[in-house]
Amino acid sequence: MTEKTEKKAKQQTLQAVRGMNDILPDEAEAWEHFEDIVRDWLRSYGYRPIRMPIVEPTPLFKRAIGEVTDIVEKEMYSFEDALNGEHLTLRPEGTASCVRAIIQHNLLHVAPLRLYYHGPMFRHERPQKGRYRQFHQIGIEALGFDGPDIDAEHILMCARLWEDLGLDDVRLELNSLGSAEERAAHRAALITYLEGHRDRLDEDGKRRLYTNPLRILDTKNPELQDIVEAAPKLMDYLGEESLKHFDGVQTLLKDAGVHYRINHRLVRGLDYYNRTVFEWVTTRLGAQGTVCAGGRYDGLVEQLGGRPAPAAGFAMGVERLLALWRESGAQVDAAVPDVYVVHQGEQAQRLAFRAAEALREHGFAVLTHCGGGSFKSQMKKADASKAQLAVVIGEDEAASGEVGLKPLRGPGGQQRVPLEGVADAVAACLFIDEEEEDGGI
Ligand code: ATP
Ligand code: MG
Repeated sequence: MTEKTEKKAKQQTLQAVRGMNDILPDEAEAWEHFEDIVRDWLRSYGYRPIRMPIVEPTPLFKRAIGEVTDIVEKEMYSFEDALNGEHLTLRPEGTASCVRAIIQHNLLHVAPLRLYYHGPMFRHERPQKGRYRQFHQIGIEALGFDGPDIDAEHILMCARLWEDLGLDDVRLELNSLGSAEERAAHRAALITYLEGHRDRLDEDGKRRLYTNPLRILDTKNPELQDIVEAAPKLMDYLGEESLKHFDGVQTLLKDAGVHYRINHRLVRGLDYYNRTVFEWVTTRLGAQGTVCAGGRYDGLVEQLGGRPAPAAGFAMGVERLLALWRESGAQVDAAVPDVYVVHQGEQAQRLAFRAAEALREHGFAVLTHCGGGSFKSQMKKADASKAQLAVVIGEDEAASGEVGLKPLRGPGGQQRVPLEGVADAVAACLFIDEEEEDGGI
């Protein structure tokens, strides 16, 4: 590098990695509000939190998700640890890690589990609206339940969350992938059918024709839509047990008044699913309309080395859900302090810190002015903070161990109270304000 290009490189501003977004305060406050709603909702169904590492051994995902899938073939951030040569991957999804943790810590030995996790996932995709390289999922997994009841519970849970968030335009698509044997019978028919259209298959399709033909049904290539539309349906290959399970799910959905459409092409992009699979889709987000997806994955625990256990779960895309929430008119107000403390002089500053801590001890949100400046400029900042009240401490107040209290929004003049009484006085002022807002006593 020449001296000139080196200098230029240094001057260039550093940017986040493409497809990985900063979530700035205005937006992050909406995220927190959303997460509060989500946490209450998860608790109301008895799901408990679990937190897994963001980096896992690469073989975990290859084994869990399947070698011939979009994620493993082309979307994983995999690298070799420069210090010990381990093959590692930034997690592209949460189910594999969650099941790995359950097996490693033998969590299933006592009773069935209902768990949830949330956090960033990483996939090397082409960034566009609703599709990022770092995105966030909230996922739930239930292990040890083999009936259709838990599948239905998951779907009803989603419906309730849409209601809690005020989302209306989210539709449910449902399918059953049957068992491994049923899929094998369908697979043979599917290959014969697709062989007849071999010339029209795209590169992915040709490659997957014998390795993973079911995946071809999942293609997003518009040129292949008519071919996959007319392909043999997996549903026609399901046996009695699988059909009974699927019926059981549908009965509970109908009882709850949850509408759905059976989509024969819904096969999900991961290999571990069987029986019930579902997606929640909206038309309000353009091409990236799937906000939540999941289903049953009875073989995964055993596949990852655990004692066989049935399992089901789903994951929702937080960015897409938040976009939809905003689209549906959700408004999240920025956090506002109750009190802004202004002060001038050394003694006043010390008293200001004591007053602010005393107020926080009583549960008030307090912004203490830092950085000096005239009373006038401090008061401007107090006003801009949208606080209801200013605590004002000058040399006079400091000398007498008192603080001034000045309403910033409503009527009323400044009063002086002793430091010990500041919390009660603030409570009285804020309480009166609230009563006035509510239309008086
Ligand atoms: P898609 O078909 O959109 O690629 P997927 O089948 O790969 O989705 P899943 O692995 O089932 O997605 O993940 C569950 C949810 O996570 C998706 O329904 C979506 O809401 C969200 N999601 C998946 N990939 C991304 C991404 N790259 N950016 C933002 N959200 C995503
Ligand atoms: Mg994908």
